Amino acid sequence: MSRYIGPSCRQCRAEGLKLFLKADRCYSAKCPITKSEAAAKTTRMKKGRPRNKISEYGIRLREKQKLRRFYGMNEAQFHRMYEIANKLKGQTGHNFLQLLERRIDNVVYRLGLAGSRKQARQLVLHGHFLVNGKRVDIPSFLVSPGDVVAATEKSRTMALIKEHAEVAAARTTPQWLEVNAEKFEGKVLSLPGREQIDAPVTEQLVVEFYAR
Ligand code: SF4
Repeated sequence: MSRYIGPSCRQCRAEGLKLFLKADRCYSAKCPITKSEAAAKTTRMKKGRPRNKISEYGIRLREKQKLRRFYGMNEAQFHRMYEIANKLKGQTGHNFLQLLERRIDNVVYRLGLAGSRKQARQLVLHGHFLVNGKRVDIPSFLVSPGDVVAATEKSRTMALIKEHAEVAAARTTPQWLEVNAEKFEGKVLSLPGREQIDAPVTEQLVVEFYAR
């Protein structure tokens, strides 16, 4: 299945929440979800308009789609990752989220070296990042505790990466990562705990969707 190439904001509208698929716009008042939330406070939600009833299957499907879109993956990649998580020891839902977080494109985004996961994926694909000194250009590469992710020497002069590294210095980095914006790099301190993953889903519903 191919990757979605339509408007990013449409995916957030479909899920009814912010998935942070664009860079700075997602954090600004220009975000359509922020705008509609503000409007809803004064109109629809005040009146308590009832939502259409959704089936049990529909609830699980929506949760799965929400998570898949949050990480910007196509269905085949996403399902493959779920199958890996399902074979690991422990809770499948937590394992799944942990694997998704450990992807290098997500880590580059979390370190603040890209404005969105989509942008991070492009930068990784074009060979702008190293893991422990070796170039990695596969966005699905999984980082492990102790790994150091850094922009290549040449990439550090790129306006896009420089700009994000400056923003990263002021941004909150998840506790499982340590960022050094001056050196355009970050270290993986540990595997992320559930409380350190801000994916807006109930992962058990995603597990139930695939286990049906
Ligand atoms: Fe668009 Fe970002 Fe807002 Fe989603 S969070 S609607 S991608 S601006």
